[in-house]
Amino acid sequence: MYRVRRFAVRHAHAFERLYAGLEVVLKRSAPLLERIGYQRLEAPVAWLEKHLKGFLFDCQMCGHCVLSSTGMSCPMNCPKHLRNGPCGGVREDGGCEVKPEMRCVWLDAWEGSQRMKHAERIEVVQLPVDASQQGTSSWLKVARGEHGAGGSHEVR
Ligand code: SF4
Repeated sequence: MYRVRRFAVRHAHAFERLYAGLEVVLKRSAPLLERIGYQRLEAPVAWLEKHLKGFLFDCQMCGHCVLSSTGMSCPMNCPKHLRNGPCGGVREDGGCEVKPEMRCVWLDAWEGSQRMKHAERIEVVQLPVDASQQGTSSWLKVARGEHGAGGSHEVR
């Protein structure tokens, strides 16, 4: 939902702390999750993640979350799916070139990142999205130590 998404960006610092807490919980739960089986957990956790993050961030379940590096503004909401900053088409009023009624997600990302403790993460170059991970849970990847919660600053 667009208004909730903008709210998350305005409160990026709070969400950054929330995600840091989630990361600790997920990593501590890793032995238990492993015993249950990641394959068995994938579908229910991805379902929960999709609905919760869909509501909060308009998450598209790319499978490699970078929210903590992008000021809590999901880059997959950019119509061009740019993961490393805006294109050259941002309008004078900050509107998206493709969807003028929507503010450029990268303007939001920059502003959100400046509200965060780790503002420097926005400068890290992100890898291209791996399409084979579409629809999979980023949270379980965090538990497995494959990347950080909400922002894969640990493993890029
Ligand atoms: S970066 Fe990917 S996982 Fe994170 S909110 Fe956006 S689409 Fe969802």
